Amino acid sequence: MSRSRIDRATPSLIEPPVLRHALVATIAPLAPIDKTYSFLVPDELAERLKPGMRVEVPFGRSGRPQVAFCVDVSIQEWASTLKTIISVVDETPMIGPKLLELGRWLSRYYCSYLGHTLDMMIPAAAKAQAGRRRVKYVKLSEKTAKALDKDNLGSAKQQAVVQALRREGQVEIGRLCDLAGCTPAVVTGLEKKELVTIEIVMEEVSPAEANPSPHHPDFELSDDQQSAIGKIGESINSGKFSVQVLFGVTGSGKTEVYVSAIRQVLAAGRQAIMLVPEIALTTQTVRRLQTRFERVAVLHSGLSGVQRSRAWSAIARGEIPVVIGTRSAVFAPCPSLGVIIVDEEAEPSYKNLAAPRYHTRDVAIQRANLEGIPVVLGSATPSLETWKNAHQRKHYQLLRMPTRVRGLAMPQVYLVDMRQEHHERPGVHMLSRAMEEHLSATLDRKEQAVLLLNRRGYAGYLHCPKCKYVYTCPHCDVHMVFHASTGLAHCHYCHQRVEMPKLCPMSNCDGRLSRFGIGTQRVEEELGLKFPAARVRRMDSDAMQKNEDYADILAAFERREFDFLVGTQMIAKGLDFPFVSFVGIVSADTALGLNDFRSEERTFQLVLQVAGRSGRGDAPGHVVVQTFAADADPIRHAVAGNYEAFADGELQKRRRAKLPPWTRMMRVIIADPLYTKLQKAGDALKQELEAALGRRGIAASVFGPSPCPIKRLRDSYRMDIQLTFETAGAMLSAIDLFKSEGTLKSSVKTLTVDVDPVSLQ
Ligand code: ADP
Ligand code: ZN
Repeated sequence: MSRSRIDRATPSLIEPPVLRHALVATIAPLAPIDKTYSFLVPDELAERLKPGMRVEVPFGRSGRPQVAFCVDVSIQEWASTLKTIISVVDETPMIGPKLLELGRWLSRYYCSYLGHTLDMMIPAAAKAQAGRRRVKYVKLSEKTAKALDKDNLGSAKQQAVVQALRREGQVEIGRLCDLAGCTPAVVTGLEKKELVTIEIVMEEVSPAEANPSPHHPDFELSDDQQSAIGKIGESINSGKFSVQVLFGVTGSGKTEVYVSAIRQVLAAGRQAIMLVPEIALTTQTVRRLQTRFERVAVLHSGLSGVQRSRAWSAIARGEIPVVIGTRSAVFAPCPSLGVIIVDEEAEPSYKNLAAPRYHTRDVAIQRANLEGIPVVLGSATPSLETWKNAHQRKHYQLLRMPTRVRGLAMPQVYLVDMRQEHHERPGVHMLSRAMEEHLSATLDRKEQAVLLLNRRGYAGYLHCPKCKYVYTCPHCDVHMVFHASTGLAHCHYCHQRVEMPKLCPMSNCDGRLSRFGIGTQRVEEELGLKFPAARVRRMDSDAMQKNEDYADILAAFERREFDFLVGTQMIAKGLDFPFVSFVGIVSADTALGLNDFRSEERTFQLVLQVAGRSGRGDAPGHVVVQTFAADADPIRHAVAGNYEAFADGELQKRRRAKLPPWTRMMRVIIADPLYTKLQKAGDALKQELEAALGRRGIAASVFGPSPCPIKRLRDSYRMDIQLTFETAGAMLSAIDLFKSEGTLKSSVKTLTVDVDPVSLQ
């Protein structure tokens, strides 16, 4: 940028009124403000300031300096009211041009503040530059360098410093003090006299570790794998954006396809990002990838600030070609990205639950689009969004892998109708006869079993048989769950724990509270009673304290140190254990009762995924699915292992109901401790939203305000308004409109906007 065109002189009254121009930076504040601001760039910063750096600007009436992101620098018309940037915070941009563009898209699409969004895209440690240290280098000033040895420079110590510098040139201050036998104060004393100069440089503490001998497995790729790899290879070579949907049954060897895609990208000198739902639960997949490449950065929540920041800057320098991580890894600053892989793309945990409430898969698609590269979405049970797109959109390609590797059979699945079971077998039984028989046979064969119940705790709820009272959390509208491990009743939402009352707390009722429903702790106990010889362990978020606990228990299971693994849906993900020949689903119905249009999809995915953990070794796999809803579509189709039948039927239902993926949904959740205030605010907000949409002629359906399925949480009542739009374009225009008119505001305690919600709780 040429400096000669920039004239910052005050216009004189005598001169004709020519239009003047100046270098102006556009700034996005970190505060929750929906605007960008212009600031003058002073001459001394003009060369240094780049978009993506953070700056300090005088902000608000007080003019107090605040940190903000610079999102643009350009020559603009001069306005005398513009304030000037105070300083530049970063040496180099924290965020490159493409990620900046992605940030703009995120903030627009997910209706979040731009500055806040950019800030969220960078790990806090990287912003603080943890992992780098400030190193002071000392050298002679020009004046001293020219002077002769005998010049009197002061004390003997100071002379020694100068002599050392003459010998060595530029020296780090610590080493210089060693050489000269002095303290740093001697050196700073010389600096004050301008006899030496001190330069501060940020240096990496140490680079990331490497894996010198990557491992190559000796098996031959299956035909399905080869064909998928070939097509993904073509998409990588095409240099264009595309979405490759890898639809492969459980055990079809999807990881191997990812490895091969990454390898092709690396061969072309580019980098790859692989996203996984949760690191702790996908240790096997992560480990497999780590052993296959020389340099892999795994970004997980257990990293220290220093490690994270170090990894981040090494990635930005292009030194680490493979990045594996959860949600935020989609923002990894790879300079020349070649592919993004989203493993288990249908996992709900890809949705970020704080603002901006982005869906990692959709951000990955958008990033791939901006970078002009392919994105690979892998799953045995693709989300209906992806399934529909794969059939309708031009840039999508569906890659099928319908068979397991090594010719292994899909597991045999048996359905147990628990209504009938209760009918034929008096008494309350948590495990059906079929389930018990299979567990016993598994134990006899010295194989392993996985048991799933998607509900933690011991008893689902406590109720009074006399007056039907159900013990609920004092702060939330949810049942308290009894935990045998603590002997207390827990709220799974606000984490309140209370002593369980023995008697019904209702006045005039002296009934005794009884425990109903089952949780994983109860299953663990029952297995102990029924199979005293079996070694049983439980894996749910109560049993796991630290991240390592997950890895430890899974490693112990892999070493066959125990026989039965009981757990919540966290055991359904990506596990590949050759000695697991039996999977039991204690209740397939846990998600079905939820008041959410995705509950069928979730149920289907969970049953099919967890069933897929069995029969991955030489022993054939068996699965028992217990249900009270044997006729429900998701259960029937999951038992038959028929994804396509389920997806097509469910898509038709959604189409009739005008629900996603046929429409786009935006949900506005408002919460307040005062219910009447909330109701009024909800009604007013709905009217304003409808009026704004009407003025612009944007077609939308607006539902609500109605109480959320969880009506009260942490002492606040909750209501939502749901808006559905026929197209993404219509939704975007609505978001732009609401933002520009400031419609999404309310006097209630909190207002949350959730675009493309994955849960309606
Ligand atoms: P998926 O993710 O599709 O369920 P994985 O990628 O976990 O399947 O692969 C299942 C298992 O099969 C892994 O242990 C993997 O090492 C192995 N495997 C992958 N490809 C082959 C192959 N072509 N031949 C033999 N074994 C394979
Ligand atoms: Zn609570």
